[in-house]
Amino acid sequence: MTLRLEKVTKKFGSFTAVDDLSLEIPEKQIFGFLGANGAGKTTTFRMVLGLLDQTKGEISWNGGDVGYDQSHLIGYLPEERGLYPKLKVQEQLVYLAKLRGMKKAEAVQQIERWLERFKVPEYKNKKVEELSKGNQQKIQFISAVLHKPKLLILDEPFSGLDPVNVEMLKKAVIDLKEAGTSIVFSSHRMEHVEELCESLCILHHGSPVVHGKLNEIKKTFGKKNVRVMAD
Ligand code: ATP
Repeated sequence: MTLRLEKVTKKFGSFTAVDDLSLEIPEKQIFGFLGANGAGKTTTFRMVLGLLDQTKGEISWNGGDVGYDQSHLIGYLPEERGLYPKLKVQEQLVYLAKLRGMKKAEAVQQIERWLERFKVPEYKNKKVEELSKGNQQKIQFISAVLHKPKLLILDEPFSGLDPVNVEMLKKAVIDLKEAGTSIVFSSHRMEHVEELCESLCILHHGSPVVHGKLNEIKKTFGKKNVRVMAD
């Protein structure tokens, strides 16, 4: 179940956002996708999900088209967080879980488990608009993982979180990997990638400048240079 991108290009008019990108994202690992603002990370995720069609190239996973045939097997934390502000946390998480084929009783059980884990069980009956941005992000993370996806795509999952919540989310990401989930996350910060990932890609203007195993990349380029490339 390797996620494969082969010579993928995305153009918006004459502007090339992703340029001839080939990637292999191994299963049951955490893969880091680094790059400065505008490097093309979100656009790549959107093509993997089938939200955007690539201009050229092939994307495959699990023997098929990821976004169109297999979206129930994918979890996605979008960069632009989107929850219904007036709905209560449990109401909307149940709604989102049902869209992905979960039964209500199972969804409720999983929601309780995740809220306990994130130390916010009392949020179940709070409206989303009553929560801080960081806590809304945790709820959005729960909505991405509730249906136990096989492939989890996280767009800047740690941005805007305080250090305690960053640690909590990192621990959850590691546990999900250990339970067999394949995870890709984007970040501007090399330290998150160093801590969590075995492999990574650094994008620059839509093209990969580095792609491979973290320890081999560090050996080749040195730790400091990898950080500079990721900026
Ligand atoms: P960030 O960290 O800021 O989210 P990113 O690496 O995710 O950056 P993208 O959001 O993929 O980068 O954007 C890559 C480039 O494509 C940017 O220059 C952006 O302005 C452009 N772009 C993205 N979506 C569109 C669109 N729908 N129409 C035109 N240009 C777009």
